[in-house]
Amino acid sequence: MDTPIPNDLSAFWMPFSANRQFKAAPRLLAGAKDMHYRTPDGREILDGTAGLWCVNAGHGRPEITKAIQDQAGEMDYAPPFQMGHPKAFELAARLTGLAPDPLSHAFFTNSGSEAVDTALKIALAYHARNGEPGRRRLIGRARGYHGAGFGGISVGGISPNRTNFGGLLPEVDHLGHTHNLKENAYSKGQPDWGGHLAEELNDLAALHGPGTIAAVIVEPMAGSTGVLVPPKGYLERLRAICDAHGIILIFDEVITGFGRLGASFAAARFGVTPDVMTLAKGLTNAAVPMGAVLVSGEIFDAFMDGAENIIELFHGYTYSAHPLACAAGLATLALYERDNLFERAASLESYWRDAVHGLRGLPNVIDIRNIGLTAGIELGPRDGAPGMRGYEALVACFEAGALVRVTGDTIALSPPLIIAETQIDTLLAIVAGAIENIG
Ligand code: PLP
Repeated sequence: MDTPIPNDLSAFWMPFSANRQFKAAPRLLAGAKDMHYRTPDGREILDGTAGLWCVNAGHGRPEITKAIQDQAGEMDYAPPFQMGHPKAFELAARLTGLAPDPLSHAFFTNSGSEAVDTALKIALAYHARNGEPGRRRLIGRARGYHGAGFGGISVGGISPNRTNFGGLLPEVDHLGHTHNLKENAYSKGQPDWGGHLAEELNDLAALHGPGTIAAVIVEPMAGSTGVLVPPKGYLERLRAICDAHGIILIFDEVITGFGRLGASFAAARFGVTPDVMTLAKGLTNAAVPMGAVLVSGEIFDAFMDGAENIIELFHGYTYSAHPLACAAGLATLALYERDNLFERAASLESYWRDAVHGLRGLPNVIDIRNIGLTAGIELGPRDGAPGMRGYEALVACFEAGALVRVTGDTIALSPPLIIAETQIDTLLAIVAGAIENIG
């Protein structure tokens, strides 16, 4: 089936895209079902990235579509300030039921970026309400991605995302990242080396004064900068240091949530529970935009004192807990459970690991790393043209029938959790062919 394509691409200012390069040779997607996209001219594209790390249950699941349609017919919208609708409460209960203790309350947003900014604001406000208003410093990590809001780019650690946007948030510092090719190249799962790097948090606490630090935010596995798997012991150590200094630990699980690492959340996979968790993407299988912040009972309770007629947190969005998003979220969580998709991801992990590490030895490959249903395949940069090899790999894969994601010269893979072993073989064969062809 051919889909008509627009003859003028100029008006749409595309996000995080090289607009002129794209519009000179567009890659358009017009349909999607299960493991595949369809291009306007009817080509099937195997989805190696679950869209953008988000369509974990695969595309076009009828249960989710129907839930959205039914909700749109029943009630399109309800204001979330001083009003409520049943599915918001239902989804919050369902979500916190899935999350590890003590994450017991959910605040809804419309994206991961909003979830991150919300989490940072909650952390600051918590300390202020808890009698420690001097705790205002936020700690992020180099190579961390926490969305595109001012809070997220301030604690984020990707330099082009921060450049040209003014002074950002004050009172922010960063841990170093954990990526180290010399020590950890070709690690399968969690690298052995690097747990000690968490000690940098102690150094920052000593530098600024532990009583000035409000929160530390990390992605348990850094996705956007190329699948950086946490070294063994690293997250455990961060947790212990936060506990020792009264610092809130925030896990940004926008990518790692909902089965991506073969468990409900990375917190469950690694056995390390944060005080606050940010979510989005797989929460609704990306069918309707939605994000969430989960917080511990202790944090929530700190807001629930004082006069009962006073708003406890002056924060929220017109579309917080939007009925269509809640309907999609409930249907998505039910589908994950019914089809055992988190367990499925776990059971595919060894097959996936062997398949991706099978690309070792191909031209210019300098590292392969994996965990859950994710992989980073790092290519050495072309002389004087960093990122070019990665971009060419993306184009070559798309032309050969697979969607991959690249960040710099690293190819990142994160297929829907419904992928079959034969489709893993097809995906990796396309990626291998692309790496060989681009040279
Ligand atoms: N946090 C993490 C870890 C992410 O990977 C992303 C997006 O990729 C975000 C936050 C931002 O989410 P959104 O693009 O929905 O604002």
